[in-house]
Amino acid sequence: MADWPYNTAAWQRLRRAKLAVTPLCEPCERRGDIVAANAVDHRVSIASGGDPFPPLNGLMAMCHACHNTKTAAVDRAGGKGVRFKGCDVNGLPIDDAHPFLAEGDTPSKDGKEGDRDRWGT
Ligand SMILES: [Zn+2]
Repeated sequence: MADWPYNTAAWQRLRRAKLAVTPLCEPCERRGDIVAANAVDHRVSIASGGDPFPPLNGLMAMCHACHNTKTAAVDRAGGKGVRFKGCDVNGLPIDDAHPFLAEGDTPSKDGKEGDRDRWGT
């Protein structure tokens, strides 16, 4: 984690700002668990062309366990892994990139749009 951009003052500022606004682990919160976040992750990885210093909603607050799970899954599967285990309170995979959600079938059958945009606001 000592590589650019994580070694910059700009990232440290961004990370602190994210944790100030989002102090809870977002994947855990989706599962209904309240866990303090202590890591900040890019929603779109820099390696995938993401902005290294995105707006706060381009970042995700995570606890160490979720961050490690995500990092391991992404590393193992070349960026296509399932990043988060488990389901949200609706029983859907909490990973937006989960194959279950990529079937082209809208997860919510009642026509509710935005389940997958919940983190983007
Ligand atoms: Zn977590």
